[in-house]
Amino acid sequence: MTHILTLNAGSSSIKFALFEAESLNERVRGQIEGIGTTPRLSAKVADADKTEKELDGSEIDNHASALAAILTLINESFSGAQVAAVGHRIVHGGPDYASPIVIDDESFAGLEKFIPLAPLHQPHNLSGVRAAQAAFPEAVQIACFDTSFHRQHPWVNDTYALPLALYEEGVRRYGFHGLSYEYVTRALKELAPMHAAGRVVVSHLGNGASMCAIQGGQSVGSTMGFTALDGLPMGTRCGQLDPGVVLYLMAAKGLSATEIENLLYKQSGLKGLSGLSNDMRVLEEAGTIEAQRAIDYFVFRIRRELGAMVAILSGLDALVFCGGIGENAWGIRERVCRDFGWLGLELEGSRNRAAETVISSERSRVRVFIIPTNEELMIASHAAETAKAAVRSAAAA
Ligand code: ADP
Repeated sequence: MTHILTLNAGSSSIKFALFEAESLNERVRGQIEGIGTTPRLSAKVADADKTEKELDGSEIDNHASALAAILTLINESFSGAQVAAVGHRIVHGGPDYASPIVIDDESFAGLEKFIPLAPLHQPHNLSGVRAAQAAFPEAVQIACFDTSFHRQHPWVNDTYALPLALYEEGVRRYGFHGLSYEYVTRALKELAPMHAAGRVVVSHLGNGASMCAIQGGQSVGSTMGFTALDGLPMGTRCGQLDPGVVLYLMAAKGLSATEIENLLYKQSGLKGLSGLSNDMRVLEEAGTIEAQRAIDYFVFRIRRELGAMVAILSGLDALVFCGGIGENAWGIRERVCRDFGWLGLELEGSRNRAAETVISSERSRVRVFIIPTNEELMIASHAAETAKAAVRSAAAA
């Protein structure tokens, strides 16, 4: 049977999932974390228990060897599974790609140019492509971009007030987490079509965190901009920052571009503020003043952005939470929604604690949802459509 493999390659991890090509039924999903240090594989085969195992650290020291371990798992679990297409999550697609593409040498070289714009993700996404090309030479490799969903942003939300030439050369507000927003938008359409057709804010709160204002199913604003640094504070990323701070770090403190990049991407956010951890669970349990203040700032920024998005949308019909924090941290959801009564938004405490799909009260004018995101399914769905379209156009040529 033919299958679609999805890959989401980060700096030290690869998340993967295998779907049947026609039905998009999920067969297995998992990840290898700690590539290069202490690699660990966890996977859940459909209808079976989750398996976890330590891997040999000396053998799994790069993306290619991690992918080989994934391949072994797939072959062991589903002998004869033929991978017809590999769908890759590619964080940055630049200004041109509003939909997924088949990756060839030319487009690969084009995507390499965006590495400086997404240094935490793009190089690893692309090593995943190279590793998959070597492992599955017969399969079509398809790039699915986190930026695509936002490509129809109105101009005022797509630009910075810099000289226009910079906009023309690509200095724009791209927005990210698009595969997650696209999935959530589709899921909301099935759950509550009237709300999905209206004014929606989706809060993707994970290690990376952003929010998206959506009108009639289209992204009209996002908290992330030129890079995935902007907007909300994240696990280790700073979120919105006065550019004057960067000038100060350069001029007064003599930090190099690499040092500033490291500071803003890896030492800031919840980790920088708490001095403890980037992990929300650790902060919620820590009970230190610094951890509490890091959470306070996180909540404050979400509320501020929500207010701004309500202004862009001229109101709000639905608010959706997703991502590891959005789906699991009821206390954060409760604090974000508190005092939004003026907007007609009211949570139902028991539903929120129980993490039900609808967590707003019956009388709330704004409906509040938890929709677990599924970027893998979105990638598989795009990969299936794009691969079929490629076959059709090759047959027509
Ligand atoms: P990524 O952006 O890496 O995909 P996730 O969406 O998995 O991240 O989210 C990771 C975040 O979710 C971490 O901060 C983690 O602490 C948080 N998280 C996961 N489960 C819970 C929970 N039960 N309560 C609070 N936070 C949680």
